[in-house]
Amino acid sequence: MISILVFCLLLAVVIFFSIKKYKRIYSNIQLGKTYSNPNGTLAKLKNMALIALGQKKMFSRPIAAIFHLFIYIAFVFTQLELIEILIDGFTGSHRILGHAMLSCCSWLYTSLINTIEILSLLALIATVVFLSRRNLLKLPRLNMAELKGWPMKDANIILIGEIFLVFGIFLMNGAESFYMNITSQEGYSFFISSKIAFIFNGLHPETVVFLSKFGWWMHLIGILGFILYLPHSKHLHILLAFPNAYLSNPNAKGHIAYMPEILHEIKSMMGEPVEASDPNAMPKFGAKDIFDLSQKNLLDAYACTECGRCTSACPANQTGKKLSPRKIMMDTRDRLEEVGKLMEANNNEWKEDGKSLLHNYISVEELRGCTTCNACVEECPINISPLDIIVQLRRNLIMEESNSPQEWNGMFGNIENNGAPWKFAQSERGNWAK
Ligand code: SF4
Ligand code: SF4
Repeated sequence: MISILVFCLLLAVVIFFSIKKYKRIYSNIQLGKTYSNPNGTLAKLKNMALIALGQKKMFSRPIAAIFHLFIYIAFVFTQLELIEILIDGFTGSHRILGHAMLSCCSWLYTSLINTIEILSLLALIATVVFLSRRNLLKLPRLNMAELKGWPMKDANIILIGEIFLVFGIFLMNGAESFYMNITSQEGYSFFISSKIAFIFNGLHPETVVFLSKFGWWMHLIGILGFILYLPHSKHLHILLAFPNAYLSNPNAKGHIAYMPEILHEIKSMMGEPVEASDPNAMPKFGAKDIFDLSQKNLLDAYACTECGRCTSACPANQTGKKLSPRKIMMDTRDRLEEVGKLMEANNNEWKEDGKSLLHNYISVEELRGCTTCNACVEECPINISPLDIIVQLRRNLIMEESNSPQEWNGMFGNIENNGAPWKFAQSERGNWAK
């Protein structure tokens, strides 16, 4: 009874705080401008199946992709065992599904748990590899300045948590296999855990039972801790990669969206019919803060895995510029979180805090480093576009603040007056071509 009560209490705490955080994330994303994706449902589902479920873009780096796949498949399969753990937790039973299947189809249950054990072992190997390349091999893209402090700890916490989870599974199954063996009881014995059961040799049967239960609680607490921690971590991509891929930009790569405000101005200059706009409303160009970005940009920020593939492919970063597309996404998420917390403390009302994404988080120097080459978008395994945010901030910088280097101003003047970046009048364009 105590164990059922503790289980229910833990589960209630985890559900309460997780839902609270997910609701906050959802309302934070709603702070952006409405985003519409003209793709049909079938095309969106295909995108999601290939990018998020099939991890298609991950395989541009096959070794990392295979290790990542181990963890991913193990995560998905372990959820099946979670169903049994939850029923056991609520009822105080042990392997309730396993016992139900013992007489009719024990092979099915054994195969399932054996699969989970094999995948868990592969996930353990992958986790050790990932921890080593981050902390021992110091892979450059995983040790850049923007990862110092919390982001690095976050990555390590989850990886260590995964080891904790796998350890719980093997402790639970291994001790149980050993106990069944020494007491000659009918029960399950699983492929990997039965091989490690010898480590319990010499222990009193009651101690072995205790260790098996300890493994069960260890696994359960690991899972509940993971659920609670997930929305605070970059590992939220496990969930958000799906809507993110579903809503991916359907436009051709390299397409940069025009500004409706500019189109409106050009049309009215050329005497073309335009939609009536509020004469008192000043058009706003580009984005200064998260409210000016689209909801998809904000979803991107939460979905970013901080893998740094974008940054390692960025020519600006490679040539020593301050720009890192990964940092653009991390800054957007950090600012969004900051705004969300301020609003939460103020009855969901927004009061200016004197800060903005542009300048306080992302500097002019970073924005000017971008060549709009699109390599970051091409590289991203879950179709995030740091470039879209960069372009919007840069538009604001130039069109709202007139903040551009002197050399660019001459070019802007020429485009405005001559329709070309050069100093020649339009009437002389033919001469120039000759
Ligand atoms: S588009 Fe900009 S941020 Fe992205 S890779 Fe190219 S230079 Fe870097
Ligand atoms: S934007 Fe994409 S490639 Fe860049 S760090 Fe985030 S997930 Fe990785």
